[in-house]
Amino acid sequence: MSVQPGNVLMVVAPSGAGKSSLVSALLERDPSLTLSISCTTRAPRPGEVDGREYRFISVADFQALRASDSLLEWAEVHGNFYGTPRDRIDEATQAGRDVLLEIDWQGARQVRQRFPAALGVFILPPSFDALESRLKARGQDDASVIARRLLAAGGEIAHAPECEYVIINQEFSVALDELTQIVSAARLRFSSQAVRHADLFAQLGIPAAH
Ligand code: 5GP
Repeated sequence: MSVQPGNVLMVVAPSGAGKSSLVSALLERDPSLTLSISCTTRAPRPGEVDGREYRFISVADFQALRASDSLLEWAEVHGNFYGTPRDRIDEATQAGRDVLLEIDWQGARQVRQRFPAALGVFILPPSFDALESRLKARGQDDASVIARRLLAAGGEIAHAPECEYVIINQEFSVALDELTQIVSAARLRFSSQAVRHADLFAQLGIPAAH
């Protein structure tokens, strides 16, 4: 496996933990990050724009992407298919850009097979009650969808130990600072620095990592 110059950061959380707001705010702070736009077969929520939050596609088109091996990972979540197009991630990391993926735990496992150095950040709500109120306050899903998502939240949270980092999203600004710090720390890893500063490392005679 070759060393990728760009870092792959996976943000994992149950619905309602505030993941998307954190990721949008992080991208505003640091526009050099590349956000992966997933494909999904779920219907757009009010305000969502095709090509911005997701590429909204049919089940047939999703299956065609899978069949042509165009997806880095895919999973069925809450009865819909979600997947990460491979091209954008490969292109960005090979160009040295850091990539952010908002995916579920099943997807995170698959991404690690292709990018073993990928880092997982799990976003936790401050309590189960807070999660429930956030899902209701969003007002974008009907009661049965909310009930399904709450049930699924427990399942998702059980996979938190698979991530390297955990952020508890109690205070948005604190959580955003913590996420920013994780991105900075990822960029300072030996493997990242060795690629970014290859000439300096060679000049100083620093051996490659084992
Ligand atoms: P939502 O429908 O609320 O936007 O997302 C539902 C779940 O699907 C979330 O846990 C989200 O992280 C996950 N998800 C979104 N895009 C992808 C993807 O490309 N792959 C995988 N595996 N999960 C995704």
